[in-house]
Amino acid sequence: MLIDTHCHLDFADFAAERDAIVSRAHEAGVRQMVTISTRVRKLDGLLALTEQYPSVFCSVGTHPNNAGEELDIQTEDLVRLANAHEKIVAIGEAGLDYFYDTQTPADQKTGLIRHIAAARETGLPLVIHSRSADEDMGEILTAESGKGAFPFILHCFSSGAELARIGVELGGYVSFSGILTFPKSEDLRAIAKTVPLDRLLVETDAPYLAPKRWRGKRNEPSYVVNTAEVLAECMDVSYEEIARITTENAFRIFSKMPGL
Ligand SMILES: [Zn+2]
Ligand SMILES: [Zn+2]
Repeated sequence: MLIDTHCHLDFADFAAERDAIVSRAHEAGVRQMVTISTRVRKLDGLLALTEQYPSVFCSVGTHPNNAGEELDIQTEDLVRLANAHEKIVAIGEAGLDYFYDTQTPADQKTGLIRHIAAARETGLPLVIHSRSADEDMGEILTAESGKGAFPFILHCFSSGAELARIGVELGGYVSFSGILTFPKSEDLRAIAKTVPLDRLLVETDAPYLAPKRWRGKRNEPSYVVNTAEVLAECMDVSYEEIARITTENAFRIFSKMPGL
């Protein structure tokens, strides 16, 4: 059994066949999925999916690439929404993306800090998107944790070893996607080996980043199996063991998600 801790089931890519995609996930042993919010204004679409599918949960937040669009959303709005819906199990995804560079660093930081405050207040994990921003992310996580701890996940981890180290030291979880399976990701597999077993998660980030076995195809939650296989090799444990560990970890960090 696996949990896909990060996917985007509301994206148009999936519109025609969501039932089949959820069924295929179940058949592959992916028993629950968290579909991640990228715009608070689109939350209704996510909530509708969680109502339609008992195994689908969601988050609430603004992706850093949309940060400037939702600067009117305050911490209290995130907290109110998260507390109002039992299937909202996380805050985010928020963070810093200096790779696409579509939003100013200032707007991205403003959004990130509001989301951190919401995670601190609700106790729900903050799903952190960090790309080409290791230094600023490390500084913000360290400074903000100093003001009061908050649970968090470094999602689709593809940053450097130092940010992984800081994240783990601050109590965070590290989630690996299909990137872990790519032939050229040797450095990333070396970083995975340094993460304690009790902080590891797996995700697809579907529809993006299909793992090696399905490279080039549209990704979907059932494909998280391939990432778990490679993570098991990295950690030198069996597939069954990595499935058990990452699932236990998912239920621990997504504390509002009911167990099976
Ligand atoms: Zn992301
Ligand atoms: Zn995402």
